[in-house]
Amino acid sequence: MSDEKPAAAPSTPLRLEMVIGGEQVAAVSGETFDVVSPVTGLTIARVPKGGQEDVDRAVAAARAAFDGEWHTWSQTRRGQTLGRFATLIRDHLEELAVTESRNMGKPISSARWEIGAVANVMEYYAGAANKIMGETIPVSKPGFDFTLREPIGVVGLIVPWNFPLMLASWKMGPALAAGNTAILKPASYTPLTAIRVAELALEAGFPPGVLNVVTGPGSTAGAAIAAHPGIGKVAFTGETATGQAIMRAAAGNIKKISLELGGKSPNVVFADADLERFAAESPYSVFDNCGQDCCARSRIIVERSVHDRVVELFAAATLKVKVGDPDDPATEVGTMVSFRQRETVLDYIRIGREEGARVVAGGGIPAEPAYAQGAYIQPTVLDGVESRMRIAQDEVFGPVVVVIPFDTEEEAVRLANDIPYGLSGSIWTRDIGKAIRTARGIQSGVLSINCNSSVHTEAPFGGYKMSGTGRENGMHAFEQYTQIKNVYVDLS
Ligand code: NAD
Repeated sequence: MSDEKPAAAPSTPLRLEMVIGGEQVAAVSGETFDVVSPVTGLTIARVPKGGQEDVDRAVAAARAAFDGEWHTWSQTRRGQTLGRFATLIRDHLEELAVTESRNMGKPISSARWEIGAVANVMEYYAGAANKIMGETIPVSKPGFDFTLREPIGVVGLIVPWNFPLMLASWKMGPALAAGNTAILKPASYTPLTAIRVAELALEAGFPPGVLNVVTGPGSTAGAAIAAHPGIGKVAFTGETATGQAIMRAAAGNIKKISLELGGKSPNVVFADADLERFAAESPYSVFDNCGQDCCARSRIIVERSVHDRVVELFAAATLKVKVGDPDDPATEVGTMVSFRQRETVLDYIRIGREEGARVVAGGGIPAEPAYAQGAYIQPTVLDGVESRMRIAQDEVFGPVVVVIPFDTEEEAVRLANDIPYGLSGSIWTRDIGKAIRTARGIQSGVLSINCNSSVHTEAPFGGYKMSGTGRENGMHAFEQYTQIKNVYVDLS
């Protein structure tokens, strides 16, 4: 990865269009909306404000593509095209990373890593495309029974703003490898890289209409996708409340749905853990991406006998996190996605204080003039927190971690589970039995032991409880993008 500073930003806003049926198109209404950089507060692009009519148009294009040439392609050919797509994404890594970093405020080093990860996901599904198989089944009749794994048809992919292209890739990869056609709707804060990759998909050789991008508000464009009778499946990542709205809207035509929703993940630290390693590695697990990460380990649940030591080590490590200009390759934490989102997080810190929490690091906006322009905020550690408090229950979606002590292994598991979510989490101990018992006890779709690694391209990712339904990544993702047809042949 490059450790160069990116070239200077253009001074006039870009004018971008949606991609529907292989064409660059404006919204039917002709309306646009501004995309603002949280680093400078300036408008960096204008994009179409799509709505119902644009979704109708995209569904028609995607359906025509599904019923057309795409339908005749072999799985191998689809995989080869995904492979070319991956190469093109890698060839445009710097351009895409700079766009994502300026649009979202994430450090350029993280954005470069993320775009590389997007290419990796496409490569994985390029290889997986011709490994989607049916079965032969020994039924009790004398005939021959087999299954086909078939695409669903037109699928809607609705993504949030925190890892814009990466979360889109988790959906595009398996959806296209399985032979669906897709309509991608990026979040209004971050629509830029989605538009660019739809252009690269055409360059890679996907037929027009196979991958479409509709930009626009969730309340209109998103809701139209969720309710559309021509869409057979919706894959969504975002807030739990939005996921519930999508579930309701999807009921109209019994759409298949997969939902990746919120989290409030525990970082459980037992007294026998390598505390220095925990403290050195864990700030990244909650402050990375300015805490705007559904897997953020935002609750440290620590054995009381080592509580003071852990708070001391973690607070010291937090103060060393380099917050700064996203263009600087040494920056570890950039801005929040918007000034509004920063207000929400500052409100939560205030609520935490009112509830009795004690700020042991951070707690506000950095004072130096260099931070005046952007939506910067200090990584914050709150001690003296009880599980019942709002600051311990709500997903803050910012760089804020709470510390909650426990006395027994059972209490650690109970506290870890004492939230409506169950997405991710970590367990730190040198006792393998304790680690496995705790992992079995925690209700969560993803856990890591003695590290904070939640996501692997090859392994299933998704939530328990109100963190969602369905799994992304790995071969498990195909369960979300295929349907099974059983065929029985009478051999008499
Ligand atoms: P959001 O729910 O506000 O928006 C997500 C997407 O849904 C956007 O594209 C938005 O335009 C669209 N949308 C909004 N209302 C809609 C509606 N009624 N119908 C259809 N689409 C609609 O979420 P956000 O603020 O963009 O993202 C932050 C949230 O995402 C957090 O809660 C976070 O935990 C969650 N998240 C979860 C995961 C995961 O994998 N579990 C990953 C990243 C983020």
